[in-house]
Amino acid sequence: MSKQISGHTGLLCLLGSPVAHSISPAMHNKACELLDLDYAYLAFDVKEEEMADAIKALKLMNAKGWNVTMPGKNIMVELADEVSLASEISGSANTVVNENGKLYATTTDGIGFMEAVKENDFDLSQKTMTLVGAGGAATAILVQAALSGLKEIHVFNVKDGFYQRALEIVEKLNKKTHCKVSLNDFTDPEILKEAIKKSDILVNGTSVGMAPNEGISLINDPSLFRKDLFVFDVIYNPKETKLLRDAREAGCKTANGLTMLLHQGAASFKLWTGKDFPVEEVRRLYF
Ligand code: NAD
Repeated sequence: MSKQISGHTGLLCLLGSPVAHSISPAMHNKACELLDLDYAYLAFDVKEEEMADAIKALKLMNAKGWNVTMPGKNIMVELADEVSLASEISGSANTVVNENGKLYATTTDGIGFMEAVKENDFDLSQKTMTLVGAGGAATAILVQAALSGLKEIHVFNVKDGFYQRALEIVEKLNKKTHCKVSLNDFTDPEILKEAIKKSDILVNGTSVGMAPNEGISLINDPSLFRKDLFVFDVIYNPKETKLLRDAREAGCKTANGLTMLLHQGAASFKLWTGKDFPVEEVRRLYF
C-alpha cells in the first residue's frame, strides 16, 4: 500500500473465519487510495463465539465500519442496534456502519446480485426467477430480489438444514412483499422443469460446481436451457461452471458471481464512506 497510515487513519475491516483468502482488503484499500480516503481495511480471523468481543472492541476503537463473512453473518444481526429490512428477513448481515457507537447492519450481497444482473442489460422487474439454493448467498439473492419487485420466485433446495430456515423466510417474503415466493424440494425434477419453463432467469445459489468440484452441475437436462433464459451462477471460481458452460453452449446469456462480488463491495463502501466505489479500476485490477 503506497498510502501513508497516520494517527488519523480510520479503520475498516472484515470479520469471519477464514478470512486470509479474501479479496476485500485489496479492493477496499485500493478504492481508498484511488479516492484519497484516509482508511485502512484489515482482515481479522474471528470465530462466531468471538464476535461479541470483537464488536465491542471495534466500537471502543471507533472503527468506521466492517464486513462480516461466515460464520459471523447471523450473529451480527443480533449484535447490531438497527438492521435493514433485508437483514431482518434473512437474519444475516455482511456490512456494518458504526455511527458513534450505534451499529447499523445490512446485507449487500443481494444488491451485488441485482447490480450484476443490471450490468448484463437484464431488467428483473416483474420477472420470474428459479433459484436453486437456500444457503447464505441464495437467501441474500432471494430477499433482495423479492424486495426489488420480481413477480415470482421459485426456490429449490434439498431437504437439508437450510430448507427449514428457508420456509420461514419464504413465509415472511409472501407477507411483506408483492412477490409470490414458493419453496420446493429440489429432488422433484418435474416441479423444477415446470418452474424453469416459466422463468426468465435461472440462478444457481449453491456451492455445487465450485472448485475443486468443477465438473458437476445441478441442472443436467439441456432442453431446459431456452435461448431467452438468463443463467446466473453465484460461483466465481471457476469463472465458468459446468452449468454456465452448458447454458452458454445452448445459446443462453450467462453470468458468473464475480460481478456480484464486486458490487456487494461497492455497496458496502458507499455505506461507510458516502462515495461511489471506483468499480472499473478495481475490476480491471482484481477481477
Ligand atoms: P452455504 O453453505 O450457506 O449454502 C450452500 C447451499 O448449497 C445450500 O443451499 C445447500 O443446500 C446447497 N448444496 C450444497 N451441496 C449440495 C448438493 N450436493 N446438492 C444440492 N444442493 C447442495 O454457502 P454460501 O455461502 O451460500 O455459498 C454458496 C456459493 O456461493 C459458494 O460457491 C460461494 O463461493 C458463492 N458465493 C458467492 C458470492 C458472490 O458474491 N458471488 C457471495 C457469497 C457466496
